[in-house]
Amino acid sequence: MNLLIMGPAGSGKGTMSEKIKQKYQLAHISTGDMLREAVKKQTSLGLEALNYMNAGKLVPDTLINSMVDERIKQDDTKVGFLMDGFPRTLVQAEAFDEILHTNNKNIDCVINLVVDFEVLADRITGRRLCKNCGSIYHIKNKPSKVEGVCDMCGNNLVQRSDDTVEQLEIRLQEHKKNTEPVLEYYRKQGLVVDIQAGKPVDEIFKDIERAIKQI
Ligand SMILES: [Zn+2]
Repeated sequence: MNLLIMGPAGSGKGTMSEKIKQKYQLAHISTGDMLREAVKKQTSLGLEALNYMNAGKLVPDTLINSMVDERIKQDDTKVGFLMDGFPRTLVQAEAFDEILHTNNKNIDCVINLVVDFEVLADRITGRRLCKNCGSIYHIKNKPSKVEGVCDMCGNNLVQRSDDTVEQLEIRLQEHKKNTEPVLEYYRKQGLVVDIQAGKPVDEIFKDIERAIKQI
């Protein structure tokens, strides 16, 4: 079973990916992790990517595609994979189809996490983090014991400068502009399942399980 998960930052994509991966024993392919891994292992593609990153440039599609191709050939994807963070654009989606085709694979379902703007805004603007130990809190959903102080190390908690409603709007527009054509592409193939993700984690995951059963 090969799945693809999509959703804007703050939609709980990371949490859901983790749960899906554990329950169905899928290889979780996150393009971010994949890049870091390739750089760490110093594969030829990784080193090439590093050149772009060091120059402050975006790693080009062709290189990302090659990495995805290389990653998908690895043994752990035999049971299936969960793709996360790719494809981000229509061009990548089309390239991904080619890659899948040459590897005799296909996508069974695209899980699209949908969250209302208000819910996202609430999640994001309430987020506080500790720059010392990396702990993350939320003023409503996961408050620290003492306001503004990290439970783990006692450091002051801060709000990330781009965790604002204005920045969220910009990020969402950008996300929508890129992913809308990708979603449309998969909708035409009848692969997309929209999952309402503004609910408690367990309820969202139940909906995902139900969608997967229907594949
Ligand atoms: Zn801390």
